[in-house]
Amino acid sequence: MSNRLLAGLPLDDITRLIANIHNVQVSVGTVLYEPGEIIKNIYFPNDSLISLWALVEERMTLEVALVGCEGVLGSSAALGNNVSGVRAIVQRAGTVSCIDSEHFCTEFNKNFTLQKIIYCYNNILLAQVIQIAVCSRFHLLEARLARSLLTTRDRLQSEKFHLTHEFLAHALGVRRVGVTKAASALQQKQIITYSRGNIEIIDAYGLEMVSCRCYELTKNIGGNTLSNYFI
Ligand SMILES: [Zn+2]
Repeated sequence: MSNRLLAGLPLDDITRLIANIHNVQVSVGTVLYEPGEIIKNIYFPNDSLISLWALVEERMTLEVALVGCEGVLGSSAALGNNVSGVRAIVQRAGTVSCIDSEHFCTEFNKNFTLQKIIYCYNNILLAQVIQIAVCSRFHLLEARLARSLLTTRDRLQSEKFHLTHEFLAHALGVRRVGVTKAASALQQKQIITYSRGNIEIIDAYGLEMVSCRCYELTKNIGGNTLSNYFI
């Protein structure tokens, strides 16, 4: 799986960019940015998945967006903000295409197609963040877990993936016991199986029924704006 934003750029537009890009292997739990850190590299995930966590008082966390092969990390550097506001942590191991911020910004300033895609993508990201903020405040944990699993499935294009209770607890901003309860409820309804972090969605329709509308809303925002790239 390769990054769709990069793959979607016309060849003429991408040649200079490609010359400065290299692939990096990232493993689960690797932190690509911390809040307040200068963005030195821009990352385009390929088969990896990166979770963006907002941090509260250094220990409480909440996933505010999930970035996979449909997206890019750190592109705000080209828009005038080169300081990360979130922790970017690898949720699924794989590769990212990496370019240093300086080269990326130089290319961004010359390349109209790249500008268009990055502006669009940042709007989608903002919409995701807003929806997850609303979701986290008003919706039940079981529905939020279902939303999160569906989004992960879409990004990875797989019904099976690995996510520990601990990672989910950080992403959903709850204690592990809360994740255990919500996941057990989904198992009892025979919607998922979940053992030692190995998740399989066995009833995708059922999971969509349990999820709040935030799943559909965030998916539609991406689909409508960047339909060639978003999944
Ligand atoms: Zn919701």
